[in-house]
Amino acid sequence: MSDSKNLMRRLVEADSEVAQLIDAEGRRQHDKIRLIASENYVSQAVMEATGTLLTNKYSEGYAGKRYYEGQQLIDEVEELAISRAKSLFGVDHANVQPYSGSPANLAVYLAFAQPGDTVMGMSLPMGGHLTHGWSVSATGKWFNAVHYGVRKDTGRVDFDEVAELARQHRPKLIFCGGTAIPRTVDFAAFAKIAQEVDAILVADIAHIAGLVAGGAHPSPVGHAEVVTTTTHKTLRGPRGAMLMSTEERAKALDKAVFPGLQGGPHNHTTAAIAVALREAATPDFADYATRIVANAKALAAALTERGFDLVSGGTDNHLILADLTSKDIGGKPAAKALDRAGVELNFNTVPFDPRKPFDPSGLRIGTAAVTTRGMTEADMPKIAAWMDDAISAAHDGQEDKLDDIAGQIRDFCAAYPIPGWTE
Ligand SMILES: *Cc1c(COP(=O)(O)O)cnc(C)c1O
Repeated sequence: MSDSKNLMRRLVEADSEVAQLIDAEGRRQHDKIRLIASENYVSQAVMEATGTLLTNKYSEGYAGKRYYEGQQLIDEVEELAISRAKSLFGVDHANVQPYSGSPANLAVYLAFAQPGDTVMGMSLPMGGHLTHGWSVSATGKWFNAVHYGVRKDTGRVDFDEVAELARQHRPKLIFCGGTAIPRTVDFAAFAKIAQEVDAILVADIAHIAGLVAGGAHPSPVGHAEVVTTTTHKTLRGPRGAMLMSTEERAKALDKAVFPGLQGGPHNHTTAAIAVALREAATPDFADYATRIVANAKALAAALTERGFDLVSGGTDNHLILADLTSKDIGGKPAAKALDRAGVELNFNTVPFDPRKPFDPSGLRIGTAAVTTRGMTEADMPKIAAWMDDAISAAHDGQEDKLDDIAGQIRDFCAAYPIPGWTE
């Protein structure tokens, strides 16, 4: 019996069907090189906190003002998570209850805007998030969303466009940050524009929160009145989210989360967020954040050397966006071939993509998870070579080559254990 099954021996007894699926997923996560930019491997401690009996407790409300009895210890857990978030990010206020990043962002709309109001964010195909007002999202259906993008020549945010749109449309909220931005977000430049048009600047740092916490990306604090983040991407906590803000914005945000949008918070998740925030305050975590960026730069350089065309020419953070037009293959067939070859990532639109969103031109690549596993800059040329070989094989229809690469990658990954699963 593998170690992961050992850790869940009651589950194996009670429901071997589910246990086997979890164990097989553990093997899959172990045997592949995970380059999905939004994913990571949480520590055993974070995983254990999520698996506790805190899941049994209802605690609608906030510490000291709950609607159910028996909150003596739940209050302490939530206060601990809040105080760690405040000290880690240097904010006046933190709310750790949002179920995930999307509801956290929705709470910001509920707190500061009315349906029909104008809001502004980066467009989805340029690197923004659905919840920044994209048309298929509730945020795009219920609000009048205006979108900015990046410059065609630089692949970077066009601040002339942001300023012009802001002056013309006077949005209530301006979102900065996104899901496919390979460059540093200039929070000060956004803040200047938001101030001029009297908008609330919302920095969505879901992707880069771990880099911010570890000092590898500038902080939005002091520029954005509201900061939203998931807790499970570079921050390496459980699936969840946090809202952070100035004192002035605190009350409206808290009311929007509860009772505005949610019922009882997920207390087992709150405990795991507290654990992750403690981890994120250590020198080891700062070192991890620095290594994420070093790995991304090394991988970007190795891919460029192999003829990959990178949006903006490289990266400042954990993320690389590759345009495969020069490789004569679509993003989707490339991503599928890479998955078969043992490299897990996602197809993605690139700015000004001429192809359809479900088979766009690009690949999104992130280095947080491989960094957590201990892979270093020296490993990145090897990974780039496997990627290049797999994409060439897919282009030439040589499927058996993909399986060959998958075998090599499985052997390589054996030297990098992951928390929660062993052979
Ligand atoms: C991931 C992400 C979200 C949404 O998080 P979910 O937990 O998937 O709902 C929101 N904003 C940005 C920028 C993200 O990257």
